[in-house]
Amino acid sequence: MTSAKTPRAAIYTRISRDNKEGSGLGVERQLEDCRKLAKALGVTIAGEYSDNDISAYSGKRRPAYERMLSDIEAGAIDIVLAWHTDRLHRLTLELERYIKACEPRQVGTHTVQAGKVDLATPSGRLNAKMLGNFAQFESEHKGDRIRRQKAQAAKQGKYLGGRIPWGWKVDGESIVIDEDAARLIREGTEAIITGRSIISVTRAWADAGAANSAGTRRNTTEVKRTLLRARNAGLVTFHGEVVSNEWPALVSLEDFRKCQAILTDDSRPKQSESKFKYLLSGIAECFCGRTMTGFGTMAKRAYRCRVHQEGGKFISGHAHRAMQPLDDYVRAFAVSYLRLPDMADRIRAEMQRLEDAQQPEQRQDIAELIERKHALARLFAQGVISESQLVEGSREVEAKLEWHGQQAAANGMQRGLAAVVLTDDPGGSFLASDVEVQREILRSMFTIRLQPTGPHRGEFDPSTVKIQGR
Ligand SMILES: [Zn+2]
Repeated sequence: MTSAKTPRAAIYTRISRDNKEGSGLGVERQLEDCRKLAKALGVTIAGEYSDNDISAYSGKRRPAYERMLSDIEAGAIDIVLAWHTDRLHRLTLELERYIKACEPRQVGTHTVQAGKVDLATPSGRLNAKMLGNFAQFESEHKGDRIRRQKAQAAKQGKYLGGRIPWGWKVDGESIVIDEDAARLIREGTEAIITGRSIISVTRAWADAGAANSAGTRRNTTEVKRTLLRARNAGLVTFHGEVVSNEWPALVSLEDFRKCQAILTDDSRPKQSESKFKYLLSGIAECFCGRTMTGFGTMAKRAYRCRVHQEGGKFISGHAHRAMQPLDDYVRAFAVSYLRLPDMADRIRAEMQRLEDAQQPEQRQDIAELIERKHALARLFAQGVISESQLVEGSREVEAKLEWHGQQAAANGMQRGLAAVVLTDDPGGSFLASDVEVQREILRSMFTIRLQPTGPHRGEFDPSTVKIQGR
């Protein structure tokens, strides 16, 4: 091989229905953009690979993608060009395989949307997926044409895509009331108006076997959110504004407003004053390894390294960030992450893993530990071991049992968090949660470490925040 050879590029295009606009960007347009990119990068096009992918969730094989991977593995490709990373990979599993093919051969990835993609580090890989998501959000929010189309569709009472909300079903092209669900929603609304608690509604719905989209019972947050949907009163909202009242109503507007007033009444005492007021206290870390704490008032709130609490005075050379921009960035990151197309599957898989693998093993461990405890007592009673040996041995067993107890509690918590995020819109669900819940979700998903900012500390710089998946 001579150094004069120009890099050989593979162009990958895919039609997808991942986004709500339907078929998304046409293959022709993707191809055109990628060819331009090839020209700009000064690479020769060695092959064009195109798949027509009906559903991102089907996990169906993509013949062209497979062919491209083989060509990469055969050393026929130096660089991969795609319109954007979500065209390239649908699932984390695929991304891992892709990286395995590319990394040893130093095959780079460039996208029209995000430029060069760093797939060599875990945070690079997460960011690669993030970029794809952000690009999509942006195009959805920017596109006036799309917005008008959606608003138009909303006015006509058409469903805008995604899963049909609980309480309705599709009949031909229109949305009609699902009577079984509607009855529960009516009863729930009535219960709140008559002074019953959200917990009692949660219980009633669980007893009636009303499952959420994940197939589990709705938690109180979900129940509250369901009762607060403007759609229940036949109103359709779009970007926070009521644009139509043409959806079939489940409850009267009057009842909905009463219920809404009760559920959103901030003067009611909060269930518990949370220990941490701030999103990232004790979660985000300074580059020194200590966690950050929040301080200050109003607009001046900031996070600083915990080292200040140890010393009690200002110490330079540790992380310091204004609170609002950092909170906003981390929330946006989490929402984007939770909206990855395969996120629900991953959370479900994780739950399954906890359910299947760990627990039987643990149960056996626990049984053995208890048996050991009894055996120690027997040996002591028989005079085989001394009292100090009994105490020593028991202490060890107790410590292990306690560890198992903590594991079990952690698993239980994981399941609780899954209930929060396993909804039609995990990102929205995250945003709708209390700070305390958001904190737990962040903690279970990410490590967040702040990097030194250099001399100018003025503007918030996201590149100094390293977020890694756990
Ligand atoms: Zn520090």
